[in-house]
Amino acid sequence: MGLAGYVLNSSAGVVVEVEGAPDMLDGFAAALRNEAPPLARIEEMQVAEIDPLGEREFTIRESQAQEGEFVLVSPDVATCPDCYRDFTDPGNRRYGYAFTNCTNCGPRYTIIRDIPYDRPNTTMAGFRMCAACQAEYDDPGNRRFHAQPNACAECGPGLSAPVEEGQRRLSQGEIVAIRGLGGFHLACDPRNDGAVRRLRERKRRSDKPFALMARDLAAAEAFCAVSGDDRRALSGPRRPIVVLPRRADSGISAAVAPGNNTIGVMLPYTPLHHLLFRGAAYDVLVMTSGNLSEEPIVTSNEEALARLGSLADWFLLHDRDIYMRADDSVVRTFEGAERVLRRSRGFVPQAIDLGMEAAEILACGGELKNTFCLSKGRYAVLSQHIGDMQNYETLVFFEETLANLKKLFRVEPRAVAHDLHPGYLSTQYALRVPDLEKIGVQHHHAHIASCMAENGLRGKAIGVAMDGTGYGTDGKIWGGEFMVADYGGFERRAHLRYVALAGGDAAVRQPWRPALAYLADTFGPAAEFPDLAIWRDVPGSQRNAVRSMIAHRVNTIETSSCGRLFDAAASLIGLRQQVNFEGQAAIELETIAAEGVEESYPFALDADTVDFRPAIERIVAEARTGAPAAAIAARFHNTMAEAIAEVCRRLRVEEKLNRVCLSGGTFQNMKLLARTLAGLRRLDFDVFIHAQVPPNDGGIALGQAAIATEMLRRG
Ligand SMILES: [Zn+2]
Ligand SMILES: [Zn+2]
Ligand SMILES: [Zn+2]
Repeated sequence: MGLAGYVLNSSAGVVVEVEGAPDMLDGFAAALRNEAPPLARIEEMQVAEIDPLGEREFTIRESQAQEGEFVLVSPDVATCPDCYRDFTDPGNRRYGYAFTNCTNCGPRYTIIRDIPYDRPNTTMAGFRMCAACQAEYDDPGNRRFHAQPNACAECGPGLSAPVEEGQRRLSQGEIVAIRGLGGFHLACDPRNDGAVRRLRERKRRSDKPFALMARDLAAAEAFCAVSGDDRRALSGPRRPIVVLPRRADSGISAAVAPGNNTIGVMLPYTPLHHLLFRGAAYDVLVMTSGNLSEEPIVTSNEEALARLGSLADWFLLHDRDIYMRADDSVVRTFEGAERVLRRSRGFVPQAIDLGMEAAEILACGGELKNTFCLSKGRYAVLSQHIGDMQNYETLVFFEETLANLKKLFRVEPRAVAHDLHPGYLSTQYALRVPDLEKIGVQHHHAHIASCMAENGLRGKAIGVAMDGTGYGTDGKIWGGEFMVADYGGFERRAHLRYVALAGGDAAVRQPWRPALAYLADTFGPAAEFPDLAIWRDVPGSQRNAVRSMIAHRVNTIETSSCGRLFDAAASLIGLRQQVNFEGQAAIELETIAAEGVEESYPFALDADTVDFRPAIERIVAEARTGAPAAAIAARFHNTMAEAIAEVCRRLRVEEKLNRVCLSGGTFQNMKLLARTLAGLRRLDFDVFIHAQVPPNDGGIALGQAAIATEMLRRG
């Protein structure tokens, strides 16, 4: 446009100073918005006039770091089509180069050590650009102009072995550890049942589904049903794992996702992934996190060789270090939108606009699927998926990531928000932080606030929080909660009727324990059900011990957990008495539930209790007479959806509130979610659900931050 001046990155954002003819200046401001490059995201543009300085040329000035400013940092971006052409064109100098990238794609968050985002502040600092790369980097007309991770085979990172060697080993059924963008993957051929089973044994992950990576959309469509929304989610620049319905005739080993009619699939997102599929005999690979069961994903070569040595037959390493580990994200599409279930690579650290001024707060999140949240200005930055905070390694990951995000976003929290559960490592961490105000936030209040925050709601809403476990203000375990809430507080207006759960953690792993709790509550502690699966499948000594504990209220805790009610239903119909991962019984109950069933079971409501005993009575009667489990499962889902709608209807009458927020891990159940939404919409409610943050405990840190902000505002 013939304008003179300069541009620079500062930690407050991008600063452009231009001078020239007035109409050109206006055109420039408009073009900035309308013709911005694919990855540019203009949050806010401030324009001010200054006197002309007589500039003659346009220059790029050195980046400036300013103390205390908030600057957005880009998530990692999947390989763009132009780069794909570069490394697949035999005539291109990057042909076959596994670290090809440009300003439109490539690693970002996982390699950034500090801002401003310049090469010396990344793990590319040690690689000196060759003359050809430097020329691209310096040329404003080039796609690699100021592409910080720019590299080629001459000057950039390299692999420890040829890709072809990896292909050969994968084709032969070996398990290969592959260093990726945010950590290691363990890969094998999912059509090779022996290989998948071996990986399962070695990972000590008996049933939890493995994610797949397909060569391209066509390959994914061969074993999954892919909708238009799914296609967009799969091939977008974030490249998450997308949960898809699997085809029966897929040829994929049943051991990839046992007992599940969905499967998690992603497409290649780095040049190395694309190259692994080029000319290979397979068109899909298992790509599961390189870790031992619940530990964080491994990132460094040394750590991989030490920790994954017993899991992998072979290693494909590289020498571009991963500064921040990030697992693959998981989404599901529903009603035209991507719904995040695990928010990590490709999403983090993209800030969530709170639409209000927030104090600088650290919210420590929950225990399972932990993420934490830092807020500043109008923004909340949610950490990547940290994992289950139940071991030392995960706590260390939490602390490292926190130190990094505080530094990147220049956040110095003045308060720490945390869950009320005294046993959570995240709570204990929060309480150990010296000198800062501590704000305890009830678990389900945080769920509802997170749903309100991402939907930009102000004022009060009816909140329905359904999940497995959350510490209540009465010291009991909540999880089937109806509240009237805003950021400033909540009133618990109704909940699932308490039952006495025996055996602490074992009650989560053994669905027959909540089933016995519901049987005792419904029929009395002495009732016997010899024709129920529990009497067949659970040893009498264990069963009687638990029944006695429930009868005498010894080592029991009262719970209103919706997750445990789902577990109980799964147990009563004989689906499963033991789970190998959180939510497994509920997932299987959803999986088997028949389509097209409209009936439901009775339930009772009093002032503040949703009583499922009438439903349990019917389920038991039907299970004893051998009614199909698929029909019982469907009627059970319908009953829960109806109970939710009915409680909301009553609350609306009392409160004159028409909006409902649905949150909590139970709403990952798509049958329940769809049915609940339909029921509430028939009653003309405005219903809000999650999209940007998970409905599970991976989202509660956002709610904690929103609540803490309001608490501080009110003093
Ligand atoms: Zn590119
Ligand atoms: Zn080079
Ligand atoms: Zn929860």
